[in-house]
Amino acid sequence: MEIVSKQSTKIVATIGPASDSYEKLLDLVKAGVDVFRLNFSHGTHEDHLKVINHINYINEKYNLHVSILCDLQGPKLRVGKIKDNALIINPGDILTFVNEECIGTKEKIYMAYPQFASDVEVGEKVLVDDGKLMFEVVKTNKKDTVQLKVLFGGTLSSNKGVNLPNTKISLPSLTKKDRKDLDYILTIPSVNWIALSFVRSAKDVKDLKAIVRKAGHQAKIMSKIEKPEAIERIDKIIKASNAIMVARGDLGIEVPIEQLPNLQKDIIMRCRQRARPVIVATHMMDSMITNPIPTRAEVTDVANAVLDGADAVMLSGETSVGKHPAKVVEEMNKIIFEAEKGYIVAREKRPKASSKSRTFYSDAICRHAAKMAEEIKAKGIVGVTSSGYTAFKISSYRPDARMFIFSDSNHMLGILNLVWGVKCFYYDKFTTTDETIYDLAEMLKKSGDVKEGDVVINTGSMPLAKRHRTNMAKITVVD
Ligand code: PEP
Repeated sequence: MEIVSKQSTKIVATIGPASDSYEKLLDLVKAGVDVFRLNFSHGTHEDHLKVINHINYINEKYNLHVSILCDLQGPKLRVGKIKDNALIINPGDILTFVNEECIGTKEKIYMAYPQFASDVEVGEKVLVDDGKLMFEVVKTNKKDTVQLKVLFGGTLSSNKGVNLPNTKISLPSLTKKDRKDLDYILTIPSVNWIALSFVRSAKDVKDLKAIVRKAGHQAKIMSKIEKPEAIERIDKIIKASNAIMVARGDLGIEVPIEQLPNLQKDIIMRCRQRARPVIVATHMMDSMITNPIPTRAEVTDVANAVLDGADAVMLSGETSVGKHPAKVVEEMNKIIFEAEKGYIVAREKRPKASSKSRTFYSDAICRHAAKMAEEIKAKGIVGVTSSGYTAFKISSYRPDARMFIFSDSNHMLGILNLVWGVKCFYYDKFTTTDETIYDLAEMLKKSGDVKEGDVVINTGSMPLAKRHRTNMAKITVVD
């Protein structure tokens, strides 16, 4: 299959009505998608399963490892139905939110969050519809009714999302809906990543990990950073998570929007220090939902995420409901290609291996493999992994060479397809180190990734049968 040439920074595409058919999914893969995101805020389980079956089939037919990411909705707050689906509200109006279902009017609006009245305090802000409408709490009976003064008005329509940036929300991180969705997701072995929305603490992540482990599922956990509480506890959350998403949509409402660029840079840097893949998400190519080309600002935004050192950039509405999903991915790929020419910034900030870590020696090998690749102009770093550790680690050093990662677990390869610079291969014949090094070079020649005379760095563990962490690096001239 003809796939456009791949860059190191990966592309995540959200699937929806514009892209959920087999043909559309295949077009997206050809255009350069590495990870498909299924958003459980929308669609039925049957809809998602159909998409997963298509992706599984594409992976099998074309020998690929396109990753499947299931994104749980989390405690997303919403208003209920609004009369005639439009309520004009003006600054100074007083609205009443109640926790009993009703059709919303100026007198009474349903808020689908039973603890709303007990959680909010007078003076706190309530943002609705991505922050387009802003209210302030003027009174709460701490039971079931809250009065709000309109600060910024407009038209309120049904089921709009609500953000409470100043409020400590008492809802659990996994809602009833999430538990149902999760039970379903955990019956599907090919799901590689599960994203948890509105993460507030490392405990949220650990709790989800325990459920996944108990079900015997191999999926890794991605935390979506979109709450001020998550920013306050970012290091602990990164440590507890397998990957991070800078979910700029909700984050840009929950914190002052002008803080987003520095938060994005800071979170990416912290993730690289801990070798956790990090996705930059939302509004990256938003105008291409309808337009055939991106705006100058969007091109610069994608390029800046690449230069900040993100593992992946994500498309939401652009591929789920947009007019030309595959074209957006092609455009994004072109921007990534150009941006990566100026990659020096992320490389200069390479994290040092810590002598205090129990993985110090293998971290040092991974780091020096990345440095050596530059010195000897290696075509690639070849790694073999079952836990994924080597791939996560080497990638975090952002080497100036592709990483060719081999594993005998297709599921692990799907997980690693999200990771910066990693190209995945299935290999299950582990006999001797010499034979494996020879076999892998032959496979890379066959795939066109290397040719005779190219130099690669092999990393691995010796003795092979013991499956230790990476403990050796070797320069191989391909013959
Ligand atoms: C976001 O808020 O940026 C995000 C990715 O989350 P969702 O699309 O689930 O709202």
